[in-house]
Amino acid sequence: MRIWVNGGLRDADDARLSVLDHGLTVGDGIFETVRTSEGRPFALTRHLDRLTRSARGLGLPDPDLDEVRRAATAVVDANPVPLGRLRITYTGGLSPLGSDRGTAGPSLVVALDGVSRRPDTTAVITVPWTRNERGALTGLKTTSYAENVVALARARERGASEALFPNTAGRLCEGTGSNVFVVLDGRIHTPPVASGCLAGITRALAVEWTGAEESDLPMEVLAEADEIFLTSTLRDIQAVHRVDGRELAPEPGPVTAKAMRIFDERAGNDLDP
Ligand code: PLP
Repeated sequence: MRIWVNGGLRDADDARLSVLDHGLTVGDGIFETVRTSEGRPFALTRHLDRLTRSARGLGLPDPDLDEVRRAATAVVDANPVPLGRLRITYTGGLSPLGSDRGTAGPSLVVALDGVSRRPDTTAVITVPWTRNERGALTGLKTTSYAENVVALARARERGASEALFPNTAGRLCEGTGSNVFVVLDGRIHTPPVASGCLAGITRALAVEWTGAEESDLPMEVLAEADEIFLTSTLRDIQAVHRVDGRELAPEPGPVTAKAMRIFDERAGNDLDP
């Protein structure tokens, strides 16, 4: 694998950052995961907008988006795969231990690996830990993902691929790496960004393209919904066939299946919607 590190492409074995990088020592960093198909990134402009928003939220200098685009192109060209996960990481950079952010400037790392298409349906669990809808980092895509790692491990132990969080008010919020949608009486609903969820790019496109409503939802909605689906960059739209102990239909329900068709068609016709 060839990786972009601070200004140039390197072989994975020679791609180095300081062990005192603030991203590593305190999680002072942000990232984006972009899907590529046959070497073409999907929705890159939206991802770069969010990268800039996350940088501002964390007080990092604005990333140089021309450089990020150049790096993304170089990495995509150097690592040909049919379906790829392009990971852009931007951190506080080298900082002496115990210091605030250092003066060396941010680090930019862009890497890509091949992935396989996700199954059309999956199982999820709920976890008792909460998303904070009023935190300093709420809505920012930071590299401080350890809580998601713990929740995802819990999901895997239970044969699921995703864990859903409530927020501190006990309302439905999001998954470790996905947004959640429910179908009630034929209408699609998803928690609003004010619930504390990430403003997912797939979520925004699904809302725009399917007319889903943003609704404040109790956790109990998961026990009642006719259909449930997840959205994320690598899942696109993925139906839920089991939530905790509750079995839903083994195949995507009619509303979800229609949303999947609309998404595939629109995303196939416009690479940078
Ligand atoms: N929520 C969280 C916490 C995430 O990490 C992600 C994906 O990275 C999402 C939601 C889905 O966002 P997107 O559709 O932009 O991938």
